[in-house]
Amino acid sequence: MARYRGAVCRLCRREGEKLFLKGERCHTDKCAIDRRNFPPGQHGKRRRPRMLGYGLQLREKQKVRRIYGVLEKQFRRYFEKAAVRKGITGELLLQFLERRLDNVVYRMGLGVSRAQARQSVRHGHFQVNGRKVTIPSYLVKPGDAVEVRSKSRENPCLLANRESTAHQSVPAWIDVDRENLKAKILALPQRQDIALPVQEQMIVELYSK
Ligand code: SF4
Repeated sequence: MARYRGAVCRLCRREGEKLFLKGERCHTDKCAIDRRNFPPGQHGKRRRPRMLGYGLQLREKQKVRRIYGVLEKQFRRYFEKAAVRKGITGELLLQFLERRLDNVVYRMGLGVSRAQARQSVRHGHFQVNGRKVTIPSYLVKPGDAVEVRSKSRENPCLLANRESTAHQSVPAWIDVDRENLKAKILALPQRQDIALPVQEQMIVELYSK
């Protein structure tokens, strides 16, 4: 699947909040939201237009899509899968996004951002249930064992990430063994495990028009 390859700080500036797309830089005073918190583009410095209805729903959808680094077509597909399942569609949508392998690697603290975690997966550093997986959108399920492959255990980037994310909390649905660079998926992620400032109901309303 394709991915967005443009400048990422402008995505945060468009949403007017930190989406933490760049790892460590997001926690320094170099963050574009701290320096230039106005929308990108020629007219960005004008007053932010007041948004209602469709505009708000669209921004919410774009925000979630950008946090997880998913393009529209794939995001829509997650929504369609969530819509036909029993349960609350918005929460199921977030559940699909959380279950992506690149997100799990990020949650394990082996990527400073989801983009970096995605690249590590693409480069073949991870295995699921003993088999190499290079597909960032691979969906994990309860009982799965995710771990760094033996030949990547000394990878300096992964080891440095493990150190720099030591303070990061791990959601309850993943049991992470940081020492041995592996994790076990205990359950499907619930809404309370997904600490993101998003109103998923708005996305459902947008796609249900
Ligand atoms: Fe967003 Fe991080 Fe860039 Fe700040 S540094 S604007 S949080 S991607």
